[in-house]
Amino acid sequence: HGTNLVSHLLPEDRERTAIHLPGGGVVGYGELADLSARYAGALAAAGVAPGDRLIALTQKSLRAVALYLATLRVGAVYVPINPAYTRAELEYFVRDARPSLVVTDPAREEELALVCGPLSARVATLSEDGSGSLDRDADPRPAEHDIAARESDDLAAILYTSGTTGRSKGAMLTHGNLLANAQTLKSAWEYTADDVLVHALPIFHTHGLFVGLNVSLLSRASVILLPKFDVAAIADALPRATVLMGVPTYYTRLLEVPDLRARCAGVRLFVSGSAPLLTATHTEWRERTGHAILERYGMTETTMLTSNPLHGERRPGTVGPPLPGVSVRIADADENGVGSIQVAGPNVFRGYWEMPEKTASEFTTDGFFITGDLGRIDEDGYVQIVGRAKDLVITGGYNVYPKEVETAIDALDGVAESAVFGVPDPDFGEQVVAAIVPEEGAAIDQSAVERHLAERLARYKQPREYVFVDELPRNVMGKVQKTVLRETYARAEH
Ligand code: ATP
Ligand code: MG
Repeated sequence: HGTNLVSHLLPEDRERTAIHLPGGGVVGYGELADLSARYAGALAAAGVAPGDRLIALTQKSLRAVALYLATLRVGAVYVPINPAYTRAELEYFVRDARPSLVVTDPAREEELALVCGPLSARVATLSEDGSGSLDRDADPRPAEHDIAARESDDLAAILYTSGTTGRSKGAMLTHGNLLANAQTLKSAWEYTADDVLVHALPIFHTHGLFVGLNVSLLSRASVILLPKFDVAAIADALPRATVLMGVPTYYTRLLEVPDLRARCAGVRLFVSGSAPLLTATHTEWRERTGHAILERYGMTETTMLTSNPLHGERRPGTVGPPLPGVSVRIADADENGVGSIQVAGPNVFRGYWEMPEKTASEFTTDGFFITGDLGRIDEDGYVQIVGRAKDLVITGGYNVYPKEVETAIDALDGVAESAVFGVPDPDFGEQVVAAIVPEEGAAIDQSAVERHLAERLARYKQPREYVFVDELPRNVMGKVQKTVLRETYARAEH
């Protein structure tokens, strides 16, 4: 095998099933390889050269997966973007990535041509039914295309971060980064060719693309490719599956499914990540299905860092020990051992695309990446994340970790979940605010919350303001957007 990641994702065994389509058909590894080879031919003919960026603004489909593989095949850099972005949002990414080709839905061709024209990027279209220009161009081509030689530190992809704490940054991931992480996860989770993954996550994000897809293809497993998150579709697929990967909201929503235990009978592994899984969800899932959800921690910049064990105790409220080959340390720890999470390993990215200063400032002098997350490592080596450094509230000179306050609030009867954040305050610098989502039908009395917290938390940690909301603002990856909360309530109250 070469160092081009794609040579590890397309096995010799052509007959084996790679993808189960939503409509019921199956696609073998051979067919997937052939389609990716034809697309690669079309890309090369369109002038996409090794090292060029290709923006994929595609709906999730078999063809979109083949385009990803084709991009790697020609040695170009895959840059997937959420197809839900508006034109104004897109302009930023196209300008930033400077692609030679943008592949989009036929419905957006003209819009993209306007954005790309001045930037001398070409536009091709991809449609699920095969009617796009890329298929027209690829159809007559041979089902063979050389896999471009790549070094392990050549770029395979630029993935934009989720934009939870500010503007999305392009993370440069190499062939070596992605191969190392996929191999590590394959072995840590004992992934085999017999696995069948329910794949409902988007493929423009590290979770669905580099965990879900890469690990499955590397293992010669198959994926049930669902176009998007849909409770009924997942429930329907579970009896045929062995693995489900999701963000925490998948699990809370799936708890609505009545015959969950029976549906999960053949599943060996439930993985959660991208945002913190509530202990209550972990517990309820175990009661309802008999399975302990395996929570893991990762970032766009590093792919996966830690994982609760496949065998051994999966501890709710933790993200498990570091994965083999990954170093995790806590810098500037306080008296409780909480500090800045820093990481190193073959999986850690090469830097932010065209942001050398930002890259330099996020690495320590001894080469560790500063994740921006705060946490501690317990006596057994399990990592606990207490939140993001940017979400830390500093009030009257004291540090308040939102997670600690949220955990105390969530323990109250009638509370579904909460988010604690800081808003500017003229006297204290910041003041603590709690947004609380009551359980359906529950009425929560603010003074009861105040009494409950007064017994558990030091005065400075107790929220000065409460807001009761139907739901928390979340982005597409199920992450609570504290920036939105801060802006909303800073304006309303001051
Ligand atoms: P941006 O960097 O643009 O602000 P983002 O950090 O949300 O957005 P991602 O790279 O998608 O973008 O997310 C990585 C972050 O997600 C981690 O730094 C961490 O804060 C959070 N995260 C991932 N998995 C978990 C987990 N299991 N528990 C808690 N937080 C998690
Ligand atoms: Mg981030």
